Amino acid sequence: MAPSGTVAIVPIVPIQSRTRSPLSTSYDVAIVGGGAIGSAIAYFLKADPMFDGSVAVIERDPTYAQASSALSASSIRQQFSTPENIRMSRFGIGFLREIDRHLGLGDGTPVDIGLHEGGYLYLATAMFEEALRANHAIQVAEGADVVLLRPDEIESRFPWMSIEDVALGSLGLSGEGWFDGYGLMQAFRRKARALGAEFLAAEVDGLEVDGDRVTRLRLRDGQTAEAGHVVNAAGPWSGAVAAMAGVELPVEARRRCVFGFHAQATVPDCPLVIDTSGIWFRPEGEGFITAISPRPEEDLDGLPLTVDQRLFDDRIWPALATRVPAFDSIKVRNAWAGYYEYSTFDRNAIIGPHPELANLLFATGFSGHGIQHAPAVGRAIAELIVAGRYTTLDLGIFGYQRLREGRRVIERNVIG
Ligand SMILES: Cc1cc2nc3c(=O)[nH]c(=O)nc-3n(C[C@H](O)[C@H](O)[C@H](O)COP(=O)(O)OP(=O)(O)OC[C@H]3O[C@@H](n4cnc5c(N)ncnc54)[C@H](O)[C@@H]3O)c2cc1C
Repeated sequence: MAPSGTVAIVPIVPIQSRTRSPLSTSYDVAIVGGGAIGSAIAYFLKADPMFDGSVAVIERDPTYAQASSALSASSIRQQFSTPENIRMSRFGIGFLREIDRHLGLGDGTPVDIGLHEGGYLYLATAMFEEALRANHAIQVAEGADVVLLRPDEIESRFPWMSIEDVALGSLGLSGEGWFDGYGLMQAFRRKARALGAEFLAAEVDGLEVDGDRVTRLRLRDGQTAEAGHVVNAAGPWSGAVAAMAGVELPVEARRRCVFGFHAQATVPDCPLVIDTSGIWFRPEGEGFITAISPRPEEDLDGLPLTVDQRLFDDRIWPALATRVPAFDSIKVRNAWAGYYEYSTFDRNAIIGPHPELANLLFATGFSGHGIQHAPAVGRAIAELIVAGRYTTLDLGIFGYQRLREGRRVIERNVIG
């Protein structure tokens, strides 16, 4: 895509090789959070021949016990309603298909993230048929390989599905599916380190601001680090990190529970199904995984990462058995909970610099679709830092400024 030039962000501090103390406490770029997003940013920076600066990724928990990137359902789709989200996914799928070329270390060990392009199938009742058609028109205009299916076409492709209430379906024929998100994060991390990024096991607990710049990061262990640019890639905790600089960021940690189950019957060629009931399910290994978002009144910020079993018993299982009669007898095998980094403003990403603190950049708020966009976001933030503007995909629509202006970018296809 041609450079758009519509977003011009002049780096406040030009990239330079800073003098670094023996303790390495001064960096050109400090990234708070070493999940898929932070690690992707580090990789794209260090892989850019125009960049010769230093990069630190500051990650408080290198085991990633609660990180979204380790607890994700890790699926990728083209079926969004915001063209920029589709463009990010189109870049993402190309990157994932050639993951070994991008993130291989050249030591002969292949990078395998188990990408399976099984497709997404969105199902709509008559009430949502027009919306599905409108979204499809946007997707096709962006070059996505998505087709609309009449009920009889759905039935002949997926005879194991019961579709009485379905008026229309929308199926991704290629470019959609699922992969190992934790593996992707680790591959970004490994490659970024091999290229010279430093990963520090430390927690940022303060940001010092001087005028229009964040000048210093304070770490919980008492150390400090100076930085030319600070990137907030702290996922569900990015609101707390922004607050350290006195910045309001409407991103909350919203718990989502995923259930793994086994079915006796075979369900051939099962895509990731977005059901009219609000549940989704897809194959995972020998079985399946499924989830539904909590009801709004129960969808609170920062709930403990314990599994709410009621979601499965009361809402998911009845819907599964209605859609797929063979799912009437299934066995739940496992379950886990993780956080969406949820933008309460418009359920869309917040990407790019703060309007006043221009060396503070955001890469957060993905609201359930961040891991598939990690390659595109990593590249985008690297472009902003190195070139001072987007040079490939223009993601200016996701800028922080829209929060000030009350300009919501509504993504109609948010999953929970
Ligand atoms: C159940 C579930 C299903 C999902 N399904 C999908 C899907 O199918 N497709 C998709 O694209 N996306 C999906 N997502 C969303 C996706 O996983 C996230 O958008 C993505 O992983 C976000 O990556 P991140 O690096 O921003 O956040 P994280 O992976 O959470 O990383 C943030 C890191 O910041 C660190 N950190 C926080 N505060 C500090 C601090 N003060 N100092 C130092 N470190 C700090 C944390 O320890 C953490 O490791 C899903 C998420 C969940 C929970």
